[in-house]
Amino acid sequence: MKLGISSCLLGTMCRYDGGHSRDKFIVNQLSEYFEFDSFCPERLVFPTPRPAIRLVRSNGIVSIRTSNDNKDVTNIVTKISKELVEKIEDNQLYGFILKSKSPTCGMERVKIYPDKKNGQSENVGIGAFAKELKEKFPYLPMEEEGRLGDPWLRENFLMQVFAYKSLFELLQSNPSINDLVEFHTSYKYLIYSKSHDSYKNLGNIVANRDKRPLNVVLEDYKSLFLEAISQKGTIKNTYNVLLHIYGYFKKNITKEEKEEILETMEDFKKEIIPLIAVIKIIKLYVNKFDIEYLKKQVFLKPYPKELALRSKVEAYR
Ligand code: SF4
Repeated sequence: MKLGISSCLLGTMCRYDGGHSRDKFIVNQLSEYFEFDSFCPERLVFPTPRPAIRLVRSNGIVSIRTSNDNKDVTNIVTKISKELVEKIEDNQLYGFILKSKSPTCGMERVKIYPDKKNGQSENVGIGAFAKELKEKFPYLPMEEEGRLGDPWLRENFLMQVFAYKSLFELLQSNPSINDLVEFHTSYKYLIYSKSHDSYKNLGNIVANRDKRPLNVVLEDYKSLFLEAISQKGTIKNTYNVLLHIYGYFKKNITKEEKEEILETMEDFKKEIIPLIAVIKIIKLYVNKFDIEYLKKQVFLKPYPKELALRSKVEAYR
């Protein structure tokens, strides 16, 4: 399972100053689950070390310039970024981790400097390579290493990566409409935790009441599914999913057991305990009452448990 990555995050000495930006979480933990395809656009056009480059706004237009002599290098950096992105094939990567703040790799809030000494800088830029990547793969899961330090963004990103991979595996398997129904059924509660509208609309596509050809249904499903999983989950939606799931076994448990699980769910909603505490109790009942429909739900096991993404209260907002 491959992720694209800005090379310097793996420890490659390709930064302008000859250093690297090795990221511990990526190198020590994510490398257990993912292979990496690394990219350093700047190294392909400049020597290392090299003068730093930065985004500069002049007369409303943003260009890339060397910080020592203000030389305009926009064309060369854009050209190499385009070439690199063009070479990435459709199913080659399941996500991309980009180096924050870089005028080449930064995904958002890259600093744009004013061209005049007393002007104001703005944190609204995007790196040339990240821009090309977003244009060619609008729904490819993408994050910056800095943002992955936030448990909420980290959980959302990795959930998106695993769901993205599952969808492409389904599409490559030449699926029948029944395969699509099965896939959709397993993702119902995960989608629900992202957006009610997406949940409803995807259900309508799969129901295919107008009897449209399978390839059209799959194409529509793909676009909407990718859009759905790119949305961030919320505590409110996740709590609603928990209530739905609880509905499957509430008649089979005692009054005390009901009180216990409802209190646990409330505690999750109030950000007192992490989601994993609720999931553990739910799984106990799902297995005890052998509820096949719930056993298939990706929501209950969206990624390897060792990633411990649901073990922090801060992973939900
Ligand atoms: S941020 Fe991107 S261009 Fe800059 S050194 Fe890292 S990989 Fe290379």
